[in-house]
Amino acid sequence: MQKSKSRPSVLILGGGFAGISCAGQLSDHSFDVCLVDQKPHFEFLPNIHEILSGVKRPRDVRLNLADQMTAMGHRFTQASVQSIAPESKRVDLDDGTTLRYDFLVVALGAVDANYGVTGVDAHAFSFKSAAQCDAISDRLRTLKATAKAPRVTIIGAGITGVEALGEILRQGTPGNLKITLLEAQRQLLPNSPKGLDNYIRGLCESYPVEFRCNETAQRIRQKSVLLGSGESLSSDLTIWTGGPAPAPLLSQSGLAKPASWAPVDDYLHSLHADDVFIAGDSADLPSSLAKQAYHAIDMGENVAQNLKAITDGSKMKRYRPSPKPQLISFGGLGCIMLAGKWAAGAPLLSAGKEAVFEVAMAQLDRQAGPEKAALLLKRGIRASDKLFWPVVMSPTALLRQKNFQVLR
Ligand SMILES: Cc1cc2nc3c(=O)[nH]c(=O)nc-3n(C[C@H](O)[C@H](O)[C@H](O)COP(=O)(O)OP(=O)(O)OC[C@H]3O[C@@H](n4cnc5c(N)ncnc54)[C@H](O)[C@@H]3O)c2cc1C
Repeated sequence: MQKSKSRPSVLILGGGFAGISCAGQLSDHSFDVCLVDQKPHFEFLPNIHEILSGVKRPRDVRLNLADQMTAMGHRFTQASVQSIAPESKRVDLDDGTTLRYDFLVVALGAVDANYGVTGVDAHAFSFKSAAQCDAISDRLRTLKATAKAPRVTIIGAGITGVEALGEILRQGTPGNLKITLLEAQRQLLPNSPKGLDNYIRGLCESYPVEFRCNETAQRIRQKSVLLGSGESLSSDLTIWTGGPAPAPLLSQSGLAKPASWAPVDDYLHSLHADDVFIAGDSADLPSSLAKQAYHAIDMGENVAQNLKAITDGSKMKRYRPSPKPQLISFGGLGCIMLAGKWAAGAPLLSAGKEAVFEVAMAQLDRQAGPEKAALLLKRGIRASDKLFWPVVMSPTALLRQKNFQVLR
């Protein structure tokens, strides 16, 4: 790895959890830092599903990247990365600019896995950004107002698909709306205790929801979903929650094999290029790790520490993931806490998910006190009005709190 010059340049690609937390730890003027993202905002992806029901608006889950980088003393460039050439230490952007670096941090996240299903891009709504959730919310509103018997299909019953379903139910289901949740594996929330599947089905008993497990989507058309079994489901709105896949840019840049995540060592340094660190979803660690926001934050911070270690000649730090419980919300009906093999369900837990969101947003926001406090206040007022009161504090909500269940 290159020995540092006096103020080395660090180029961070991606202003998601890993990129922004790395930038935040480099705010001591010993580095010349530039962060590049195709979007003007950082987005808190674990809570974007709440945009479907109006509990949150896109602006509630965003931080302006230009403001954040200015507050940190860094530069921000909004552009899409077209290519990375580690051997010549350059990055080409879609606006024709070429950026050079001493150290590169690749924090580009993931793209949607589509498993070769045709029609995903053309006919399904993806679920990876606040704008996409806003578009789904608009489409739902239009369908409810105009269609006689609207049919909604959610493809994928992992955490994202289940949370999306919960938010649609929170918004209310006119008598003629029908929702199908399609999952290729044998149960909802695959690879978790079976009790979670039972819990979600139980919460949906009085709603027009059909669960189709062990069924794959083969082709998505404008108004239907063709299943592997040959059956065609009518669908006015198809939501795709297929999970994360590696961005092709990783292999195109020589940082990964085709269709693979970019391998790193214990210090998050690329196995394929000098002076390149990979953090967040893009990284393929020596032992496999779930693609989660809190891991991405820790990885971003770890990379920043290692950059400092290289420049001051101290020892680099190995990245050691620290597991944390996961909270899976289900609209206003329930919420699951999953910690290893232990799981519990209760509506009250959604207050915990909101608290995690508020604390993490406040920690990631590096603006000065008044701007930060104003955003915090706006988010807090909306949360108590749209979430805490109806789900946790109102008399009907309090009656529901006795429904605490341990899920096996
Ligand atoms: C709907 C949803 C729900 C989730 N729920 C949870 C949850 O409850 N708990 C949890 O822990 N995790 C959750 N996750 C996973 C979590 O959000 C990711 O693990 C985390 O965002 C990874 O952080 P990252 O920094 O690696 O990538 P991201 O946060 O995705 O950031 C990557 C950034 O790179 C930018 N980028 C990508 N390509 C380019 C390019 N070519 N040029 C310029 N910029 C580019 C993107 O615009 C983006 O800002 C969820 C993810 C989704 C999509």
